Amino acid sequence: MKPAAFTYARPADWNAALALLGEGARPVAGGQSLGPMLNLRLALPEAVADLRHLPGYAGVELAGEVVRIGAGTTHAAIEDGAVPGRLGEILASVARRIAYRPVRNRGTIGGSFAHADPAADWVAVLPAFPGHAVLLGPQGERRVPLAGFVLGVFETALRADELLRAIELPVLPQATRWGHWKFCRKPGEFSKATACLLAVPGAAPRAVLAALDAAPLVLADAAALRAAPAAEAARLVATLGLEDPWRASLARVALRHAAEAAA
Ligand SMILES: Cc1cc2nc3c(=O)[nH]c(=O)nc-3n(C[C@H](O)[C@H](O)[C@H](O)COP(=O)(O)OP(=O)(O)OC[C@H]3O[C@@H](n4cnc5c(N)ncnc54)[C@H](O)[C@@H]3O)c2cc1C
Repeated sequence: MKPAAFTYARPADWNAALALLGEGARPVAGGQSLGPMLNLRLALPEAVADLRHLPGYAGVELAGEVVRIGAGTTHAAIEDGAVPGRLGEILASVARRIAYRPVRNRGTIGGSFAHADPAADWVAVLPAFPGHAVLLGPQGERRVPLAGFVLGVFETALRADELLRAIELPVLPQATRWGHWKFCRKPGEFSKATACLLAVPGAAPRAVLAALDAAPLVLADAAALRAAPAAEAARLVATLGLEDPWRASLARVALRHAAEAAA
């Protein structure tokens, strides 16, 4: 199937991109999710605004203790080490397990987060970090905590007239512990259960459970999970009311493995 006709615009700056949004254009980043949606006619925009040529859209900047990752930074760039230090090691380990390299070459961290597929890897991992999504709208920039950006299935804090401009994450000490576990039936497939645990020395450990057909479950203090992974994973998953026993089982295993991997 081919997409319905739409006009294509390539804004040269952010104001032009926002103006196009105001006229109803749909932003496109790597096109790895929007492309199939256009082809299946699940999305029928009259116009698309290609963000890829905006200044500062892709790339990583270090400003003091904050790492700013442009929304247009590809999964492949992160996999290849665009982000420095311990944070970069962690993000690269996540990026290299997203889909296949051809998808990673085009798909972007911002496109994935804005799309908010509950099974997507960045949706499952970014809320574990005490950072912010930087949103740009007609009134300027605003920052939303990463843990509060994804509100539901394909639902985010982005307003219709806003773009996701960047992800801001803290520089992490080398001693930061990280555990990440996801279950796919075959490599490159979307996850059926994902969990991660981030333990920064001197701060409460944080954890996320995702691929739940809902917004990710974010634990701002995962000390109990870290102390007793199996028991606490079972307790947490029991509170979710998952109907399918196999999904509940995978969720328990994901949380337990993530916590044990961070030990
Ligand atoms: C075969 C295949 C396998 C895949 N497997 C996985 C997987 O295992 N794990 C995984 O996480 N993902 C997977 N994906 C999805 C992939 O990671 C996409 O890159 C990602 O979901 C979307 O990123 P994108 O840059 O292509 O965004 P696009 O497809 O261009 O856009 C996605 C949505 O976000 C909006 N959008 C994009 N950028 C912005 C912005 N800056 N501000 C506001 N809105 C914006 C668009 O309007 C659209 O609604 C897979 C994709 C394919 C085709």
